[in-house]
Amino acid sequence: MTTALCPGSFDPVTNGHVDIIGRACSIFDQVYVTVFENPNKKHLFSVQERVDMLRQALQDFPNVVIESYYGLLTDYVRMRQIRVVVKGLRAVSDFEYEFQMAQMNKHLYDELETFFVMARPDHAYLSSSVVKEIAGFNGDVDSLVPRHVSEMLKRKLGKG
Ligand code: ADP
Repeated sequence: MTTALCPGSFDPVTNGHVDIIGRACSIFDQVYVTVFENPNKKHLFSVQERVDMLRQALQDFPNVVIESYYGLLTDYVRMRQIRVVVKGLRAVSDFEYEFQMAQMNKHLYDELETFFVMARPDHAYLSSSVVKEIAGFNGDVDSLVPRHVSEMLKRKLGKG
């Protein structure tokens, strides 16, 4: 059985994430979608809220496993016996950071491979931070995130 990991903060999950995860699901037998807790980042949603939003957004993919983890990605993949990480690449600006992460993860765990999937052109400028910024000013994010995420954003930001 081939298993892959789609890691991220997912604060919140966007249509760009769902697209990459769906494409991974069509290639791998099993895909772990894991919320990595990063103490250095300030998040809008709690880990549990992010996991719940992912559960709803990914309910049509039967081969997805959703969980959260606090710690190093390489420790997590060793524990789960995962050898492939799938990441989305948007603009060239993603490259430098992702390249560094992939190299460092390879250094820490040589058996791990990082596969990159190109974002769809209409998702190339879509990010969780842009979504939060638009929603924060009461803008319409309905075409950028699943419906329940848009509702959660309104509730969280007190605009609902
Ligand atoms: P992180 O905090 O690790 O950057 P994110 O939750 O922002 O995590 O993103 C997780 C993964 O999803 C990353 O590999 C990122 O490149 C990818 N991703 C984010 N937005 C998009 C998008 N619009 N299209 C394709 N991939 C995306």
